[in-house]
Amino acid sequence: MRTCPSSIRRVALTRGGALGCALMFTLASHPVRASEPAVGSPQIRLVLQITVDGLRGDLLNRYGSRFGENGFRYLLSKGTVYTNAHHEHANTETIVGHATLATGAHPSGHGMIGNVWYDREAGELAYNIEDPESPLLPTRREALEGEQVDPAQKRSRTKGRSPRAMLAATVGDTLAAFTAGRARVFGVGGKDRSAVSMAGHVGKAFWFSTDTGDFVTSRYYYDTYPGWVVGWNARRQAEGHSGQAWALLNDQGTYLLGGQDDRPYEVDLKGYGRTFPHPFGDAGNPLFPTKVLVSPVGDRLTADFAKALVRAEGVGQDAVPDYLSISFSGLDAVNHFFGPSSLENEDVVLQLDGTLADLLGFVDETVGLDHTLLVLSADHGMAEMPEYMTELGFEVGRLSPDGIVETANAAAREAFGINGVVRFFYRPYLYLDEGKIAAARRERGEVEQAVARALAETEGVALAVPRSGPGPLEDTAALQRVRRNFHPSRSGDIYVAQEPYWFLFDKGPVAVMHGSPWRYDTHVPVVFVGPGVAARRVHRPVSTVDVAPTLAAILGMSPPSSAEGSPLSEVLWQD
Ligand SMILES: [Zn+2]
Repeated sequence: MRTCPSSIRRVALTRGGALGCALMFTLASHPVRASEPAVGSPQIRLVLQITVDGLRGDLLNRYGSRFGENGFRYLLSKGTVYTNAHHEHANTETIVGHATLATGAHPSGHGMIGNVWYDREAGELAYNIEDPESPLLPTRREALEGEQVDPAQKRSRTKGRSPRAMLAATVGDTLAAFTAGRARVFGVGGKDRSAVSMAGHVGKAFWFSTDTGDFVTSRYYYDTYPGWVVGWNARRQAEGHSGQAWALLNDQGTYLLGGQDDRPYEVDLKGYGRTFPHPFGDAGNPLFPTKVLVSPVGDRLTADFAKALVRAEGVGQDAVPDYLSISFSGLDAVNHFFGPSSLENEDVVLQLDGTLADLLGFVDETVGLDHTLLVLSADHGMAEMPEYMTELGFEVGRLSPDGIVETANAAAREAFGINGVVRFFYRPYLYLDEGKIAAARRERGEVEQAVARALAETEGVALAVPRSGPGPLEDTAALQRVRRNFHPSRSGDIYVAQEPYWFLFDKGPVAVMHGSPWRYDTHVPVVFVGPGVAARRVHRPVSTVDVAPTLAAILGMSPPSSAEGSPLSEVLWQD
């Protein structure tokens, strides 16, 4: 990778060779002012939004000394780095965080309040980007057969995907409108929801299929696959790892967490094991693509697909800026099985560092990093495992969703004689049965309040917030995050949040979750790198809703439709 673009080297000569490259970079390019549209200027040809699923805000610090020169270290040393950036919504899940980064809105505005919510009219769980009108485009014969079950969501209704349920415009949507449709907008992700949310309504999305190991899209975007996608999938790169294993990048003794490999509370995903090396098994096994995704290989495939997209679509090749989002999903999957303080966590981050370095080198060759405005962030952080915290002396446990339902039902039965008042519970939202409340001639608000009071007294439950509102003296920071998560038809009647480090999720092969309103889940990196962006660290608190308005301001356009954040002044101005 070129460390300094050629135009900057020329300036460096006149300024004296002793200056660091970052400073030269700064001197060479005029700061991009909010009043100066970059459109039509040759400066920014590509907005590259990189989102690392589950990259808690402290992980880059923990592993900082272990990175190579051209990956995370390049971004951290050349960019404006926000050390105290947080999602300010309560349900810190993948679709919620991605949609917030893309739109600059809180979930109350973009409508993506959770990975799933209960559809009261249909009487079943809805997956955030599910859309029966937009079936997946099959990539091979066997994928044509009927509907399939998504084990992560326990859903089988449809595999169709589109952004139609997103209620706000993204940066990409806004850029397309601003440039009269000339900006190209793409989202690539290890997960469907990370690709679809970032591509917005206007862009094209592609994501890794845990059914086939191919990158897929839906009929919302295309009638048939572009030729380059057919070509990429024909190489069957995931299957090339059949019979192989995820092995450590370096000698185990060199890792900070070298002693944290085999812990009894890690999850063994059907033969994947708790210790290195983790075998992927045979490519014919239905879990093979999932195991590939729970490793550094899934991230490498994601980057490779994105590179193929840039080449084939000519992204970033003219004066009209294009938008490309790349979401890496390996870390989150690894966190869920092994926890964020595991050897697996350290290794997947170190291997992602290499993947990132390779990607940045490619972008420099094809677009030029001096023409690229890059922003790095994460959709959420991660909790530590309850058993790990308890070992350290912080005693916490696991809550049972069934127990939450029983407590709620008992409270309504005792107070109002209503049996089975809970219509549905999928954390964080509890949905009450309006019909039963009406039949008992009770007000919904009074039932909500009584049930919430009982839930709040449960060990391990920190908050139970009724739709009808808590008392006026309870306006805490966590409660404000619950409010920002509220959508009138999608949110449930009571928001249930566990106490810090308590686990509240369905049973299943998951050792640990994110999704709480606590700071380990809200804290994420926010790093901007690009022409005119100074190298500095900023410690004031900022919100992830500021990211999209900052990109919009640099591009000289209005913020996305529902953005609530503000442009980050340190990115826009030199001093
Ligand atoms: Zn996750």
